Amino acid sequence: MLTELVRKLRAFLPPDAVLYEAEDVKPYECDGLSAYRQTPMIVVLPQTEEEIIEILQLCHSTKTPVVARGAGTGLSGGALPHHQGVLLSLARLKNVLEIDPVTRTARVQPGVRNLAISEAVASYGLYYAPDPSSQIACTIGGNVAENSGGVHCLKYGLTVHNILKLRVLTIDGQVIEMGSDALDSPGYDLLALMTGSEGMLGIVTEVTVKLTPKPDKAQLVMAAFDDVQKAADAVANVISAGIIPAGMEMMDKITIHAVEDFIHAGYDLDAAAILLCEADGMTEEVAEEIQKISTIMRESGAVKISISQNEADRLRFWAGRKAAFPAAGRVSPDYYCMDGTIPRKHLARVLRGIETLSVEYGLRCMNVFHAGDGNLHPLILYDANQPGELEKTEAFGARILEMCIEAGGTITGEHGVGIEKLDQMCLQFKPAERDLFHAIKAAFDPDGLLNPGKAIPTLHRCAELGGMHVHRGETKFATIPRF
Ligand SMILES: Cc1cc2nc3c(=O)[nH]c(=O)nc-3n(C[C@H](O)[C@H](O)[C@H](O)COP(=O)(O)OP(=O)(O)OC[C@H]3O[C@@H](n4cnc5c(N)ncnc54)[C@H](O)[C@@H]3O)c2cc1C
Repeated sequence: MLTELVRKLRAFLPPDAVLYEAEDVKPYECDGLSAYRQTPMIVVLPQTEEEIIEILQLCHSTKTPVVARGAGTGLSGGALPHHQGVLLSLARLKNVLEIDPVTRTARVQPGVRNLAISEAVASYGLYYAPDPSSQIACTIGGNVAENSGGVHCLKYGLTVHNILKLRVLTIDGQVIEMGSDALDSPGYDLLALMTGSEGMLGIVTEVTVKLTPKPDKAQLVMAAFDDVQKAADAVANVISAGIIPAGMEMMDKITIHAVEDFIHAGYDLDAAAILLCEADGMTEEVAEEIQKISTIMRESGAVKISISQNEADRLRFWAGRKAAFPAAGRVSPDYYCMDGTIPRKHLARVLRGIETLSVEYGLRCMNVFHAGDGNLHPLILYDANQPGELEKTEAFGARILEMCIEAGGTITGEHGVGIEKLDQMCLQFKPAERDLFHAIKAAFDPDGLLNPGKAIPTLHRCAELGGMHVHRGETKFATIPRF
């Protein structure tokens, strides 16, 4: 099968665009969730949409699974290859096709890096607002597939709020356009459905993004707290005062130490938690907002407040936050990043719960997250070379996600379900809801060839998990542990 497929692919792709030797496909064996690995049967690196159409038609006719891949920075295993499948890299489709400064839009290919969009439109005084911390590497196609967020999404929205139109290929190679150049379009909202669909419904080949004018000014308040509860209260107090900061991020003590040791951002090492809160807009508006934010921080119990005095200060304060993941890599052989979202009012309670679990499992955990959105990113530190430690880490992570559900939140904020959170999908959604997901998947991809085994668990898997049972025809869910 392998040689036959390679022969057919090579009939229309150049030799360097079809990889199948063990040493050539090895670099594609995982994404950012490197605890899980699987070498693909074949890797293809097309350069045009026409080539992708032919690849999909071939895979469709031979019933070969297809896994799309952007930059492979995903953290939930979404781009984990299929051992008998084709890994479809979109990395070579990296052209900015059109920039329209009047409508403030850009049309880009899926392999364009997130940051490259902002760089391409900078001379017009515009930028692309969603800014995942991985923005230097991750692609817009991956961003769409994961509905990615970032530090500034509290004010400017997630990917879904910043795109207008998608060009998508179905598994049998048909071209579909979703959305329009206007703000709304008739029919079902397929654009929203496709955004966050984790490569399971179609292959994104073109994205029309909205561009945002660069603000006149951005300024940052850094507030240190001696108590996590006070920091969490400060987050709620800022929002309830009617302020929507451009970004509001929190780091706990262990993160502050790991990051400060690495970046020397000037963080207070005595703090139990630090909040970074940014205001942007017109100069006068920013001055007023910064003053209000500082007052609220002080009244909420901040022990130290620093305000960026210039752009260098602001970038230095952010540099620490943005380097939190690499900092985790410096203090631990491995780390496992979870991604749950909770209502802001439960921040302190859930953080205490994570601390308790950290002691129970004997594993350190760094908390660095989008506090304004209630989007947690606990980084569990572990050593994969220690027998049993990965399994312990997975169990710890699962308990964190269950706490998020219990607190009225969700098991993913921006990293997607992938293979990582399949079990928790059984807790988050009722069978009827999961059936609907399967029906949508079947409508796009009846043979289940696109990214099989990801994002939506089978009923069988949920039943096997023992996380639910049927009593008098009704599904009962496992009791989620109190904390
Ligand atoms: C250090 C670090 C920091 C991060 N910070 C953030 C953050 O702040 N916010 C955030 O949201 N995420 C963050 N991430 C996660 C990750 O960067 C995002 O999920 C990103 O959108 C993935 O893009 P990618 O190009 O790497 O996609 P990949 O990892 O290659 O793929 C992700 C998913 O998209 C699918 N896919 C890729 N391209 C296409 C396409 N063209 N058509 C259809 N499906 C496709 C894949 O099949 C897979 O399911 C971070 C990751 C790292 C390593």
